Amino acid sequence: MPDTPAQASAIYRSILDVISNVEPRISGAIAQELTDQRESLKLIASENYASLPTLMAMGTWLSDKYAEGTIGHRFYAGCRNIDTVEAVAAEHAAALFGADHAYVQPHSGIDANLVAYWAILQHRIEAPTLKRLEAATVNDLSEADWEDLRQLFNSQKVMGMSLDAGGHLTHGFRHNISGKMFRQHSYGTNPETGLIDYDALRATAREFKPLIIVAGYSAYPRRVNFALMREIADEVGATLFVDMAHFAGLVAGKVFTGDFDPIPHAHIVASTTHKSLRGPRGGFVLATNEYKEAVDKGCPMVLGGPLGHVMAAKALAFAEARTAEFQTYAHNVADNAKALGEGLLKRGVRLVTGGTDNHLLLLDVSAFGLTGRQAESALLDSGVVTNRNSIPADPNGAWYTSGVRIGTPALTTRGFTADDFDVVADLIADVLKNTAPAPAKSGPSKAKYVIGDGVAERVHARANELLSAHPLYPGLDLG
Ligand SMILES: *Cc1c(COP(=O)(O)O)cnc(C)c1O
Repeated sequence: MPDTPAQASAIYRSILDVISNVEPRISGAIAQELTDQRESLKLIASENYASLPTLMAMGTWLSDKYAEGTIGHRFYAGCRNIDTVEAVAAEHAAALFGADHAYVQPHSGIDANLVAYWAILQHRIEAPTLKRLEAATVNDLSEADWEDLRQLFNSQKVMGMSLDAGGHLTHGFRHNISGKMFRQHSYGTNPETGLIDYDALRATAREFKPLIIVAGYSAYPRRVNFALMREIADEVGATLFVDMAHFAGLVAGKVFTGDFDPIPHAHIVASTTHKSLRGPRGGFVLATNEYKEAVDKGCPMVLGGPLGHVMAAKALAFAEARTAEFQTYAHNVADNAKALGEGLLKRGVRLVTGGTDNHLLLLDVSAFGLTGRQAESALLDSGVVTNRNSIPADPNGAWYTSGVRIGTPALTTRGFTADDFDVVADLIADVLKNTAPAPAKSGPSKAKYVIGDGVAERVHARANELLSAHPLYPGLDLG
């Protein structure tokens, strides 16, 4: 932190003045975004608030440098400071997670996943093929050899969690490049319990024989047993790739340990830095020594020049996550999610899987006669920011949905306690119970809705009380 809130305020006021001299609409939007963030009860499970030092590191001239390549081996001159930044970020990331190797260049979670996929393809398909072709280097391959390789890449199989069970687009969804690169087979959850069915997963893996098994999710409210996933991967000769984009903060903060810590079990792990990990917008990959070399080829394989300013911010966020304070934060995130879940259950809200053991909850709002879209909008009208999400076997499809996803990382950063989250549960239940679909020509509307008189105002007022008790960036005053 800048030493005092007064210092931080002075810094940001000067910055906004400078920006305003070029284009006042941009300084206006930056200032307004702080107000909006401060005034919203943010329950979006994938968002957080980075620290001021992390944010400040991004507004620097490290952004001006091209540094394609890896630490000490750049395709541009004059990269010594980027080398320092990248090395420090990688050192903190590897130490934080106890990984053999960290690659901190990916610009986002999707980029990190692409790096991981291509590292696996290079290590498991390209390298053995080159050996078989007895070509010393890639440059010696004929056009026919390359064609063979392309065929080989495209016939590989990936097995990830299905989108409606909580998986991510990048785990083989047909409208994502992962679904075009690979033949895909998804695994789901048990329709009764909503939990991953490991026996079914094992049976599917034995039959499908994927090259890659992807573990990880964006909307699954439970822990994943990575030890068991690795056992299954080993049985079928698959590489276990864990995408911890959502829950990296819980791994870093030692909430997920033993069988539930992906690092000792996965061959390769990819993540974002900006969700529960609370860093800048970005991605990174952790790898075992076996995959290290292939991962470092992320640039130029799928990435352009690394973002020096963001790698600097990642270094700070990783360093912050190595503190005892961050461990407390991560445990609070999980405890708060439990409190929020219990608060909702006791007020009659149905939760997919009946609860949570991570940072997120998936509400099934169909019992209130609402679609996810209606619930999301009614909550937003009442000052509660969430996002709609499909639930397993969703009767309303991926657009209207029957679910609402919420999470605790952001408000926990503001200092919300388990008691505060019980109030949040009350606000959500109040809105859901007092919202009804608007009548349409053919039965109830899936989009339009009516909120009971005064409900949105009442909820908004109580939300504001909670928010003012836990200020965001306390003392930061833009004037
Ligand atoms: C958010 C997310 C991503 C993508 O991250 P971006 O930074 O938006 O590219 C990838 N995988 C999972 C599981 C995610 O939740």
